[in-house]
Amino acid sequence: MSKKDFYEVLGIEKNATQADIKKAYRKMSMKYHPDKNKEHDSTEQFKEVQEAYDVLSDVDKKSQYDQYGHQDFNTGGFNQGGYSSGFEDMNFSGFGDIFDNIFGGSRSRKKYNGPIKGDDLTYRFSISFMEAAFGVEKDIVIRREDICDTCGGDGAKKGTSKETCPMCKGAGQVMSSMGFFQSVRTCPQCNGAGTIIKDPCQTCHGQGRVKKERKIHLNIPAGVFEGARIRVPNEGDAGTNGGSYGDLYVIVNIAPHKDFKREGNDVYSEAKINIIQAALGDTIEINTIHGKEKLEIPEGTQFGSTFRIKDKGIKKLKSNSNGDHYIYVKVVVPTHLSKEQKEQMSALKYSLSNSPLYYKPRKEKKVFFEKIRDFFSGE
Ligand SMILES: [Zn+2]
Ligand SMILES: [Zn+2]
Repeated sequence: MSKKDFYEVLGIEKNATQADIKKAYRKMSMKYHPDKNKEHDSTEQFKEVQEAYDVLSDVDKKSQYDQYGHQDFNTGGFNQGGYSSGFEDMNFSGFGDIFDNIFGGSRSRKKYNGPIKGDDLTYRFSISFMEAAFGVEKDIVIRREDICDTCGGDGAKKGTSKETCPMCKGAGQVMSSMGFFQSVRTCPQCNGAGTIIKDPCQTCHGQGRVKKERKIHLNIPAGVFEGARIRVPNEGDAGTNGGSYGDLYVIVNIAPHKDFKREGNDVYSEAKINIIQAALGDTIEINTIHGKEKLEIPEGTQFGSTFRIKDKGIKKLKSNSNGDHYIYVKVVVPTHLSKEQKEQMSALKYSLSNSPLYYKPRKEKKVFFEKIRDFFSGE
């Protein structure tokens, strides 16, 4: 990275607006473009201008630069955040078609001779229902483009080095004038790299990067949601031309559980009771993800009643509280009754036929009731 302050490179003040920055960049890149400027260090200056513009024209990078200062930005004082447990949207690297914008070129994508950040990678990762509920640490192995150890990433055979492209003099672009118009195109000799390799490294065939396997330790937080995308910084592909690594995005898929269903941080399960338990009430034992719990079934419980056990659901992300556990009650009619049981039931039947079989339904939240019923209607 450049030793000079980026504001100095572009010849602007710290309070320059984005329009000022762009204007300064246009002026400076015209001034130092190797096709226009034959002075011997203009290529270096041209690169410095590119680099300064890349940072200052990107609002995020600029604020980091302003915050950390040139030296710390330079040594990577920022962007060393390590593992991020949050869920972040992909942010695309800031390298746009700068030349297209500045020189009014075509919309086609052009390479230019600057550091290019490596590609982001996506890795799908399946975990169990319980692992999602309580969090899990796992190692995964990814394959990514990494720096070639033989040549250290520059693509040239050991003992040799890259040479500045004679055609574009390192700029990666050549300019041509057609009357009033000037156009810029990718240098055909170096393909935009600005350098050529006469004697390529045999390990990477001059690419500077090779496919490597890499073990990554993942720490999946408790309460993670289906489809969550977890960003692991700098674990994507290696960059080119000294660009930084891309990021790795781990997409979490959660396998279903045979007894529990999940909605948000709440867990649902069903319990079967017989009609006598439903009529007289009982205490039953049910399973939650946190273990066994006792549940009081009140007298006169109807089919489809739901009961809530507070705080026995899944941990909420970035919080210490849990969702709730809901029990959906299925009332089962007994079969294969013994003779004696049948006689007892008959007596009850006779007794009930003399008193009206009315019941007063307890007030249930209808919407909720139906939601739960739909939940278990898959059987
Ligand atoms: Zn190599
Ligand atoms: Zn070239």
